[in-house]
Amino acid sequence: MNNFKERLLSKDYGKTIRNLVIAMAFVAIVSVLFIVFFAIPELRTANTYCLETAIIYEPSRLVEVTSAILGLCAIILFTLYWIAFSIYLYKKAKDADIIPILWLFLALYMNIFALFAFLIVRSIIREKCPECQRYVKKSDIYCKYCGKELKIKCHECGEYAEKGAEYCPKCGNDLELR
Ligand SMILES: [Zn+2]
Ligand SMILES: [Zn+2]
Repeated sequence: MNNFKERLLSKDYGKTIRNLVIAMAFVAIVSVLFIVFFAIPELRTANTYCLETAIIYEPSRLVEVTSAILGLCAIILFTLYWIAFSIYLYKKAKDADIIPILWLFLALYMNIFALFAFLIVRSIIREKCPECQRYVKKSDIYCKYCGKELKIKCHECGEYAEKGAEYCPKCGNDLELR
């Protein structure tokens, strides 16, 4: 079970999602072409014929079977896309260490809107370590993954200041002189 979970999570979902979107676009184009060039012309001919003879229109075998196949493809692709997208967001939340299971459910519930919300939340509470590029808490003094110092220590009062700060926010000591 654990092995299965690991394998499930090791996939590159960005790529899977891209391929599924291309496949869905393809099915959509085929469906439109089918409707314009087969279904509508058939319905038109049948309509005239049915009006004259008072027979109820029934789609031909071709229209019936093709509609069923296209519909089934669309449903399967869309379901796979929805699941892949949710796992993709789960992985993103796991990398940023922000309650991945919550984001999995939010993605299952509202798909791409959950991603927008996630990106906003992540930009508020996390930042990238300049050394290893992984997400760390904004308040962290050292990167928990690679040990890189993320803040500068004031030698006067011992307070930590943001990287790039010129003066200590607590005692006003010039941080450049050290
Ligand atoms: Zn790091
Ligand atoms: Zn200070």
